[in-house]
Amino acid sequence: MAKEAIKSITIVGGGSSGWMTAMYLQRLYNQSGGRVKIRLVESKDVGTIGVGEATVHSIRFFFAAMGLDENELLRETNATLKSGIMFRNWMKPKDGQTHEYFHPFEQQRPAGPLDNATAWIQSPKRVSYAQATSISSELISNANCPKAATSPQYQGIVPYGYHLDAILMGKYLRKKACAAGVEHIEANVEHVKTNGETITSIITDKGEFTSDIFIDCTGFKGLLIESLRENNWQSFEQELPCNKAVAIQRKPLLGQPPKPYTLATALTNGWAWEIDLSNRQGTGYVYDGNRLTKEEAEAELLEHLGDSQEILRTVHLDMKIGCRKEFWIGNCISIGLSGGFIEPLESTGLHIVNLGARLLATHLSSNAPTQPVRDSYNKTLNGIYQDLRQFIILHYCLSDRDDTEFWKQAAKTAAYAKGLPEKLELWRNKTCEFMDLAGGYGTIFNDENYRFILYGMDHTPDLSQPASGYEIQNILQRLAQQQEQAVKSTMLHSEFLKQVSR
Ligand code: FAD
Repeated sequence: MAKEAIKSITIVGGGSSGWMTAMYLQRLYNQSGGRVKIRLVESKDVGTIGVGEATVHSIRFFFAAMGLDENELLRETNATLKSGIMFRNWMKPKDGQTHEYFHPFEQQRPAGPLDNATAWIQSPKRVSYAQATSISSELISNANCPKAATSPQYQGIVPYGYHLDAILMGKYLRKKACAAGVEHIEANVEHVKTNGETITSIITDKGEFTSDIFIDCTGFKGLLIESLRENNWQSFEQELPCNKAVAIQRKPLLGQPPKPYTLATALTNGWAWEIDLSNRQGTGYVYDGNRLTKEEAEAELLEHLGDSQEILRTVHLDMKIGCRKEFWIGNCISIGLSGGFIEPLESTGLHIVNLGARLLATHLSSNAPTQPVRDSYNKTLNGIYQDLRQFIILHYCLSDRDDTEFWKQAAKTAAYAKGLPEKLELWRNKTCEFMDLAGGYGTIFNDENYRFILYGMDHTPDLSQPASGYEIQNILQRLAQQQEQAVKSTMLHSEFLKQVSR
């Protein structure tokens, strides 16, 4: 007998995750005539987290799939383009030089019998891996963005993400989602009614709401998912102890156009981000709250920023590092911070929201999802968080910094990621490649992402079987030509932003 189709989905929470999910589901189900009622309930009294300003490149596919005009999105959110992340001071200075390395969004392009990475490793000494192999790296050195004057929406000559104002993005998505037909209710959820296995309704100060499916986007508190099961959280705070942040927004730096990349500088007990929007700069210090007080962290961040640029806003935040054991229980799915969070070093928060919503759509595509369907969703999301956890640990465990207890402990964290110590040993003797990572967790980061971190942090293999010098030169020359051509064909980032603002 056919099961009843899902007729209503209620999302609780109006932060980035709530509105992204609402837009996605509305577009999926209701583009030509409503089949599934999508409702979003948010509290006027409880704010959104208000941070989350850098994205990875794949967020473009989300915005494009939602039918949003890219220029309008950029204008409405004071956005800039992001070509990657510059990591500074994650290793000790060498020969009096500050250590830095770049992680772009690009993937390796096919070469001849030798891959780009091995050619770089075997080249007679050498500029950094990113400088030798990445087009984005060359673009940012020239203050260019990845777009040419003629680039279509959401496309550049290399992948790119965004820096955007999180609060404005929430408002923009709300406007678009409501215009598309999402029902928006401003109310406080005061009680979640369950029958022990599923949510039967939510009781708010504006009445009671029933729904076939409930999506928990209530942030770190996980109001809905917690009502169904206690002890449903796995903490990663032992291996990733940065559990607090102080965020400072300030006026843009005078005389300096917005940087087309995120800067992540390692400090004494964590790291600081600098994100340039078109109208201001977002900065913050993600730190270990067991080692620093709020006041100490704020003072260290201000000292690091080192100038007297006018401050617009300062917020202190607690972060819960880890993820659900089960993201989907009964008829409730947690997406966004309610599902999990790992420090934002690789700007993956919104990316995981996007993945969570898309996976939900494929898993909801049969009527009345069964337990194996829920198990599949839970397993995949869990794999994504384990993968992210391993990748973030990589940034810490490769560091040679020993100036504070925080960094001494960071060096020992590889052991927390199953199989990572063995892989690090392997990558001392061979180039890191896709098959080394396959068969592990459901992956968001691939071999090229790993290579930028490994080689950026001096974890380069010792390859004693050299390839032909001709092949090596050939590849490096071809890459250099591609870089040169890319600089010629793209625009200055500042010019692109001017064009968008018109
Ligand atoms: P929130 O923004 O906390 O929204 C929760 C919503 O639930 C609010 O609308 C609130 O009103 C509602 N709510 C709560 N209780 C109730 C109730 N009782 N009744 C009704 N409604 C209720 N991600 C990135 O992609 N890139 C980054 O660079 C990045 N940086 C970050 C930096 C920091 C310091 C932190 C903490 C996070 C960062 N993130 C980043 C993650 C990103 O901010 C989040 O993934 C994203 O904002 C989604 O948050 P959310 O919507 O899940 O939760």
